[in-house]
Amino acid sequence: MGSTLETDYLVLGSGIAGLNFALLAAEHGKVTVVTKKGVADTNTDWAQGGVAAVLGSDDSFDAHIEDTLTVGDGLCDKKAVEVCVESGPAVIERMLALGVRLDRADGGDSLQLGREGGHSRRRIVHFADTTGHEIQRALVAAAQRHPNITIIPDHIAVDLLSMAKYGGDPACFGAYVLDQNTGEVRTIASRATVLATGGCGKVYVYTSNPDVATGDGIAMAYRLGAAVSDLEFVQFHPTVLYHPMAKSFLLTEAMRGEGGILRTADGVAFMHKYHPLKDLGPRDVVARAIDHELKQTGADNAYLDMTHLDAAFVRGRFPNIYERCLQLGIDITKQPIPCVPAAHYMCGGVKADEHGQTTIRNLYAIGEVACTGLHGACRLASNSLLEGMVYSARAAEHVRRAERSWPSHIAPWSSGNATDSNDAIVVALNWDEVRRLMWSYIGIVRSDKRIERARRRIEVLREEIREYYWDFKITGDLVELRNLALVAHLIIESARRRKESRGLHYTLDYPAKLDEARHSEVQLTNGPPA
Ligand SMILES: Cc1cc2nc3c(=O)[nH]c(=O)nc-3n(C[C@H](O)[C@H](O)[C@H](O)COP(=O)(O)OP(=O)(O)OC[C@H]3O[C@@H](n4cnc5c(N)ncnc54)[C@H](O)[C@@H]3O)c2cc1C
Repeated sequence: MGSTLETDYLVLGSGIAGLNFALLAAEHGKVTVVTKKGVADTNTDWAQGGVAAVLGSDDSFDAHIEDTLTVGDGLCDKKAVEVCVESGPAVIERMLALGVRLDRADGGDSLQLGREGGHSRRRIVHFADTTGHEIQRALVAAAQRHPNITIIPDHIAVDLLSMAKYGGDPACFGAYVLDQNTGEVRTIASRATVLATGGCGKVYVYTSNPDVATGDGIAMAYRLGAAVSDLEFVQFHPTVLYHPMAKSFLLTEAMRGEGGILRTADGVAFMHKYHPLKDLGPRDVVARAIDHELKQTGADNAYLDMTHLDAAFVRGRFPNIYERCLQLGIDITKQPIPCVPAAHYMCGGVKADEHGQTTIRNLYAIGEVACTGLHGACRLASNSLLEGMVYSARAAEHVRRAERSWPSHIAPWSSGNATDSNDAIVVALNWDEVRRLMWSYIGIVRSDKRIERARRRIEVLREEIREYYWDFKITGDLVELRNLALVAHLIIESARRRKESRGLHYTLDYPAKLDEARHSEVQLTNGPPA
């Protein structure tokens, strides 16, 4: 039996959303931040480009709103877009106040503003190509200093606690949390519980995301009965390094911006067939083109060719990528770089209102785990760090009103007759199978047939995982696998329901867009928990 801990606010996740929430909520309550690996093992830490905010003299809120709505392809919630965009300048001010270093124009006072695809103006605030790392550093330092914040690393939330089990309304009052070092499951009771668990890139075999991105928050919220929305809208980045020793290494869009050319294994350039801007076409078009070429030829990967460019320029402009590839035996000034598109960002998530509140009382969702309506059917680059800051602040204000309500005796986690697993290979194989089937059937280009195949396969896998889950003592890997399979199921279900191509959801059977844009909400109605 594990111990019980009580806190005002339980935050699951230590990325930009979780830590910014913690810092603000700590001004009026005790905050416990639980994070499943190290405090900086987050998507946030890996963010490269920067944060979108209206700061330039030629820019306006209207222009940023318009750009976001255009990319979102008819499915954005205009109110959410306005809220985020109009908070942009204050977000940057807060970052500076937290000690985040940001690049200045010509070494002066004003911030250097970069430009990215889909933005009609320069508005990306950044710190070289390691903006996320710098934000994470500053947030961690501030959170570790705050007397009202306790950070508990190496603990993975397993499931949320619900008053429904005790005959009350289905409010959330905390979580069961597995200590990954001891195997003990602890109970944490809280006035409000905040999902800040990030995305789910690991559902796909190729992803730009770190290992922590297994969709735990989406799975836990769904099992509790919360609505999840728009999960078919997975953003794929066109170019991630393809190499057995390289996990999730992004080849930035700027490489094509500087003249890089995508080629097949035979050395043939192909982007001219797909878009007038060729290699600089929109991200989803480039990702689809690569996918099409690979499916047609059966090749494992495409190539990004920089060899025609001046070698000194390439080394100077992309020092990190040059070094990383060289370590793997690829001299990018002499050899084309093997690459594949990869899952990058989840636009959908746990449905959350303008305060980050989910459809379950006292349960909040902020950052990439949430679906606030900001991104619609496709995310505008660099809007996600902004969203994380905005909604964490709004939720930190709203949680003040969450009232303490949990039963006098909370049932501790029970392992029943579960024994130690003697067959860990099953977990490893199922992990691999889920990720490969999602890549093959629910990837960049979909069809009814592929979706149906995926649906049948995932149900078999989920059944196997379910048996395994209840027979053996849980481990972090098993918890993640169970969540990964459920999130895969939810993505498949959402994709199955969308009979059109919109934003990031492209299907061969319904290439046109319907007149009316609808969200695809999925919610547990009955049946056993997954
Ligand atoms: C390579 C890369 C580049 C990017 N570049 C940009 C960019 O330039 N601009 C931009 O706006 N966005 C960018 N993004 C997207 C952006 O980084 C993320 O959307 C954002 O950082 C998400 O923040 P978050 O706080 O929601 O989640 P994260 O930063 O991912 O944090 C999630 C946290 O939850 C923890 N966690 C997960 N499950 C559990 C559990 N069960 N129990 C306990 N803890 C758990 C994790 O360990 C982690 O601490 C990029 C993403 C990647 C991968």
